Amino acid sequence: MSNSASNNKSFSSLTLDNALVSNLKSLAYHEMTPIQAQSLPDMLAGKDVIGQGKTGSGKTAAFGLALLNKLNVKRFRIQSMVLCPTRELADQVAKEIRKLARAIHNIKVLTLCGGTPFGPQIGSLEHGAHIIVGTPGRIEEHVIKGTLNLDDLNLLVLDEADRMLEMGFQAALDNIIDRSPTQRQTLLFSATYPKQIKAISDSIMTDPVMVEVTSTD
Ligand code: ADP
Ligand code: MG
Repeated sequence: MSNSASNNKSFSSLTLDNALVSNLKSLAYHEMTPIQAQSLPDMLAGKDVIGQGKTGSGKTAAFGLALLNKLNVKRFRIQSMVLCPTRELADQVAKEIRKLARAIHNIKVLTLCGGTPFGPQIGSLEHGAHIIVGTPGRIEEHVIKGTLNLDDLNLLVLDEADRMLEMGFQAALDNIIDRSPTQRQTLLFSATYPKQIKAISDSIMTDPVMVEVTSTD
C-alpha cells in the first residue's frame, strides 16, 4: 500500500525502523489512522504530545510505535512506561505493543496492575523489562517500595488520562511522576480535555503539541 513517500498516510513516510514498518504490513495496518498521521511525526521527533481522539481511533499503535522506535533493545532496562486506568486496558495495551514489537526480538513488556499478587511482580521486575504497562496505584506502590527503578525511563505515556483522574489516581500519578527522570518525553492521551488535564500537562510536559481528531476517517 505504501508505494509513495509523499503519501502522508503511509507508515513508510515516517522515520520508523524498517522492521517495524514491515511488521505493520504483516498486521495489515496499510495506512495510518488520522490520529497516527497527525501525532507520529512529532512523537518520533521526540516532542511531547497531547492526543485527543475518540475510542477506536488507533491511539495505542500511535504511542506504541513511538515507544518501540525509541527503545534500545540491547539495553535491558526500563525505558518506557504506559499508565492506564484499568487492568483490562493495561492488558489490551500490552497486547498491542507486543503485536507491534513482533519484528523486534527479545523485547520484554511487563504489566503491573492491582488485583494481582505483589510478590510475583517483584520477581518479574528482578528479571527485568524494557517496557512497563500498568495501573497507577500498583506502579506507585512499586516505586515507593523501591521495587521499580525508573532511572532509565525516557518515555512516559498517560493513556486515558481523563479516566485515570476520574478514578482518583491524581496522587498516584503525582508520586510516580515525581520519581521519574525529568529528562524524558511525555505523551498524554485523553478522550476529553478538562481543566485538570490541562493542569497536569502544564506541570509535567514541555511545549506539548496538541493533536485533536474528531472523526476516525
Ligand atoms: P483507541 O485507543 O484510540 O481507542 P485502539 O488503539 O485500541 O484505539 O485501536 C483500535 C483498533 O484499531 C485496534 O484493534 C488496532 O489493532 C486497530 N488499528 C490501529 N491502528 C491501525 C491501522 N493503522 N490500521 C489498521 N488497524 C489499526
Ligand atoms: Mg486506547
